[in-house]
Amino acid sequence: MVHNGQKILVVEDEPDIRKLVQYNLAQEHFRVLEAEDGEQALKILQRDKPNLLILDLMLPGLSGIELCRILRDRTDTARLPILMLTAKAGETDRVLGLEMGADDYLTKPFSPRELVARVRAILRRAASAAQTESLPAYDKGGLKIDFTTYEVFARGKNVKL
Ligand code: CA
Repeated sequence: MVHNGQKILVVEDEPDIRKLVQYNLAQEHFRVLEAEDGEQALKILQRDKPNLLILDLMLPGLSGIELCRILRDRTDTARLPILMLTAKAGETDRVLGLEMGADDYLTKPFSPRELVARVRAILRRAASAAQTESLPAYDKGGLKIDFTTYEVFARGKNVKL
């Protein structure tokens, strides 16, 4: 299965885990970018605009939680799909991560097959959400608002705002 070169950024400071993730996603024809900390991740995000982020919570410097919060506050990354990687005992981290807007999480050690399945599921959800958003969203009682073109019509007449 080809994913049209969808890009995935893996942020993980442990080289072994990063390689494992990279290898398994590359096998599935994803293009994989790697960062070993949050600062590097921010640079790559700016430059390469990945489709999904795999984010380890335990990072040196900027933590995964902090990075998640920063990304959700920025308009260009507010909806970037995020899959968190957490340590086994880190329930608080997991809850915090989901509250910060991560889409899903995986607990270490995880199976590479499950990782790939989660990535696919998140990308599918993101794609169908994007499709729903591009539909004209409001048409009722003579008032029509086209959210894709930013036009408003009252009884068929274009209204200047
Ligand atoms: Ca780590």
